[in-house]
Amino acid sequence: MSTKVAQAISALRQTLPHAHLVTPEAAEEYQSLNNSYLSGFESDLSPSCIFLPRSKEEVAAFVRTIQPFVGDVQFAIRAAGRQPLPGCANVQDGLTVDLRSLKGIDIQDGHVQIAAGELWGSVYEHLEPHGLGVTGGKSTTCGIGGLATQGGLSFYSTREGFICDNVVNFEVVVASGEILNANGQENSDLWVALRGGGNNLGIVTRFDLRTFKQGPMYAGMVWYYKPSFPDQMAALVKELTSPDASVETHLMLSIAYAQVFNNGNGVVCLNQLYYTQPVQDPPALAPFTHVQPQRAEMNTMKIQTLVQAATEQSSAGQSMIRCLYMNVSVKADIETLTTGGDIWCEELESVKDAAGLMCSYTLQPYPVSLLKKTSANGGNVLGLDPSNGPVVIVLLLTYWAEKRDDERVIGFMQTALKRIEQNADAKGQLVPYIYWNYAFSHQDALRSYGEENVHKLQEASKKYDPNGMFQTACPGGFKLFK
Ligand SMILES: Cc1cc2nc3c(=O)[nH]c(=O)nc-3n(C[C@H](O)[C@H](O)[C@H](O)COP(=O)(O)OP(=O)(O)OC[C@H]3O[C@@H](n4cnc5c(N)ncnc54)[C@H](O)[C@@H]3O)c2cc1C
Repeated sequence: MSTKVAQAISALRQTLPHAHLVTPEAAEEYQSLNNSYLSGFESDLSPSCIFLPRSKEEVAAFVRTIQPFVGDVQFAIRAAGRQPLPGCANVQDGLTVDLRSLKGIDIQDGHVQIAAGELWGSVYEHLEPHGLGVTGGKSTTCGIGGLATQGGLSFYSTREGFICDNVVNFEVVVASGEILNANGQENSDLWVALRGGGNNLGIVTRFDLRTFKQGPMYAGMVWYYKPSFPDQMAALVKELTSPDASVETHLMLSIAYAQVFNNGNGVVCLNQLYYTQPVQDPPALAPFTHVQPQRAEMNTMKIQTLVQAATEQSSAGQSMIRCLYMNVSVKADIETLTTGGDIWCEELESVKDAAGLMCSYTLQPYPVSLLKKTSANGGNVLGLDPSNGPVVIVLLLTYWAEKRDDERVIGFMQTALKRIEQNADAKGQLVPYIYWNYAFSHQDALRSYGEENVHKLQEASKKYDPNGMFQTACPGGFKLFK
């Protein structure tokens, strides 16, 4: 441990004598905390100290105490640790601020206040008895921070917009150590900047999200075969481009491969489908639920509560697996989406024997109705105008077992992504937006927001963090000044 890091830890102990600080000497607790990231790429890093604040005041005291060490000491901000981007929420030889002890969910009139250490599953359990819903992650195990500061797609996004666009107030500790509220009336430039700006502007200690009346939904999974995929692409494009497109649907269409299935022989296709009203077999989903032939015994479509639907999506208990995401955005074009799947299948051949391989080519649409919500809800910095829409996020998601396969699996993903991108670009179907939550290190998600939005973020950074603490001392994720 460097002298400066040791001094910073000692200063923290002096400022906060009862602080929950965990160093490698407390081997069992340290290992258990550091090994609880979803991705092994995060757990591969060893911070010198993990700090678990119990209140926003402790977060503020941390920021003030660290100020004199900026330039010598680095820190990371961690919520549930579900984002696989290496080093986004952990830091080698630095201080990791683990927000998971910040607890509290408080239902107010029209919104819910959620402390930064909560999980979406707990939020849904609180809201459901009141007949309320919120735009949150589709998995119970995801944290609030990554989704609400970097975009965020929910089951309800087609109707309600991005998760970040539903945050009515961020309670945030900025570089001065002040605790600010950022909303439509107070610090509104910070409010807009935090809707996409990630960890560049401060440590958010509480998120207040708009709630709405919500009952159960018709939701589940349909498994089928690759020959039907082109027709499914046609159905997807038809739905997304229809002037009567339903605002109640959320569609995720994938080609998937898992070594454990079919003795690793072939790919399968998976539709994850949501209709956010309690309607059995709604016509809007029929083209996707009735695809034939399908694995009828694996069809899970039924009326479900939000908690049930989000539990079906969870990767509960998964940690320290080799896991990465990459993504590119394209227009809703049948040929682009179909060829993208073919390219992915071709490239997959080179890694099919990697131990424990499980991966997918997954399409997540941003319908026009979703994009229209941004300006209605006060704006964000993502740079996606409704005139860009509908947009389809092409997510490459890969899980594998052994570190020794890292290089070739990353190579497979990068090659497939590049070819998909080139194919879309050649046909004029590429959208220059990269979704931060699914981006890998070589993809500068921030710059994909466009110059004007990067400038807006830089101005907010200069105002709320004039010495650039969150740029130099908090290196995780994508940064504003290069
Ligand atoms: C099973 C699963 C399901 C998913 N489902 C969805 C989904 O439905 N929709 C979707 O859009 N994405 C989804 N994702 C991707 C998800 O959006 C990202 O992984 C997200 O970043 C996870 O958030 P987290 O708070 O757990 O992340 P962490 O890994 O803890 O943090 C991610 C980033 O956010 C920053 N951060 C976190 N909290 C704060 C804070 N309070 N203040 C400042 N910065 C903060 C961290 O510094 C880090 O850079 C899913 C991922 C998984 C594994």
